[in-house]
Amino acid sequence: MLCSISHLPFISQKDIDNYSKGNIKHKKLNDRSKSKGDFLKESEKGVKLNFDLTTEQEIIRNSVRKFAEKEIAPVALELDEKEEFSAELTKKMGEIGLFGMFVSEEYEGQAMDYLSYIIAVEEIARVDGSQAATIAAGNSLGIGPIYYFGTEDQKKRYLPKLCSGEALWGFGLTEANAGSDAGGSRTNAVLDGDEWVINGSKIFITNAACEMTMGVTVQAITGISPNGKPEYTCFLVEHGTKGFKAVPMHKKMMWRASNTAELYFDDVRIPKENILGKKGDGFHQMLKTLDGGRLSIGAMGLGGAQGAYEAALRYSKEREQFGQPICKFQAIAFKLADCALEIECARNLLYKACWLKDQGRPFEKEAAMSKLCCSEVMGRVANHAVQIHGGYGLMKEYNVERFYRDQKLLDIGEGTSEIQRIVISRYIGC
Ligand SMILES: Cc1cc2nc3c(=O)[nH]c(=O)nc-3n(C[C@H](O)[C@H](O)[C@H](O)COP(=O)(O)OP(=O)(O)OC[C@H]3O[C@@H](n4cnc5c(N)ncnc54)[C@H](O)[C@@H]3O)c2cc1C
Repeated sequence: MLCSISHLPFISQKDIDNYSKGNIKHKKLNDRSKSKGDFLKESEKGVKLNFDLTTEQEIIRNSVRKFAEKEIAPVALELDEKEEFSAELTKKMGEIGLFGMFVSEEYEGQAMDYLSYIIAVEEIARVDGSQAATIAAGNSLGIGPIYYFGTEDQKKRYLPKLCSGEALWGFGLTEANAGSDAGGSRTNAVLDGDEWVINGSKIFITNAACEMTMGVTVQAITGISPNGKPEYTCFLVEHGTKGFKAVPMHKKMMWRASNTAELYFDDVRIPKENILGKKGDGFHQMLKTLDGGRLSIGAMGLGGAQGAYEAALRYSKEREQFGQPICKFQAIAFKLADCALEIECARNLLYKACWLKDQGRPFEKEAAMSKLCCSEVMGRVANHAVQIHGGYGLMKEYNVERFYRDQKLLDIGEGTSEIQRIVISRYIGC
């Protein structure tokens, strides 16, 4: 069972030793009997405002970064070009513990805080948006609803395989005519004896039609609420259920190595027990899921911005025109300065939102702000990165064009930028 950082396959003893040499002396990081304070640096104790990551979080950042550079970077371009989802790479990400990071040990999760998970997504996105999408959707949208709203039996049945990365689970909310207006969905479920019968369809569902997919959470109308609006309930539908078809979608501009699917439900019969939580809770569950998911989309924006910025900075020091590196031209240096500034602001906002969530405090407004800010920052940074690369920036082998393309989904998925502005404006009382 994975339960502490020293047990995580991507953490080596050397990593722990290196970090232990600093502020933590002679402390065993794998000793869960120690209080959380034992993992804190001296500077963190008794301080009200503290921007340091914990040692555990720093180790996660460094270890995931090493993994992404070694395992993902060499194949990212090829997978993108072939538009190929890699089960092999996904399983490797599972082996190092990137699924179920915020899930408790009893369901084979890593029992870490949400910020640790977000840092891991950020580090994968720094190298490749598609693999980050697999992780972010796998955790926030696949694992999240089952973990937060599922029955004990459902958690025991599905979470161990999802947390080990042996299997993936999709989150089916969007329909062809109901995107931003999720309340306009038409998929319905009717109780017939001991079974629910589901009819309808979903579109753009991540991780829902690959060889690793075990099933999907699907929101369906189950009646009329007392307020006269449709009543929504979520169901767990396993792959292989008669009448359920998941069809991969191709020809995407971005996240080309991530699996996206259309789902069809044609008189799909599932046992009564496959309801997620309570009848009528579906809409609330979906909104709660999206709040957490927005933090992971924020992490993808932040990580992608960091990756594009680093590529541009490196290139600007190597590329010479008019007898000097182009970073010496103020026009280029100021672009890079703006990138560094915006990334710093975005990181602080996103981490604060995660901190609020980890404290059990309201974080919904900050989640919407982080998603919006990080996505748009990545848009501006990726644009600068391509510009700084000149003509080479438009060629695939320089990678920045992939960052440029992958960014666009972040303005659209899990609530478009317009919808985030609506959410924020409601919170500030407009
Ligand atoms: C690759 C990919 C993966 C995805 N993964 C998933 C997934 O796993 N699960 C899932 O359920 N969905 C998923 N989605 C769907 C995604 O969440 C939706 O595409 C998104 O919510 C927008 O819905 P839509 O595409 O129908 O656009 P629409 O809602 O039709 O919006 C079109 C435009 O109108 C604007 N608009 C709409 N309403 C308003 C308003 N009230 N005020 C101002 N402007 C408005 C929008 O901002 C947008 O610019 C995925 C999408 C993609 C492309």
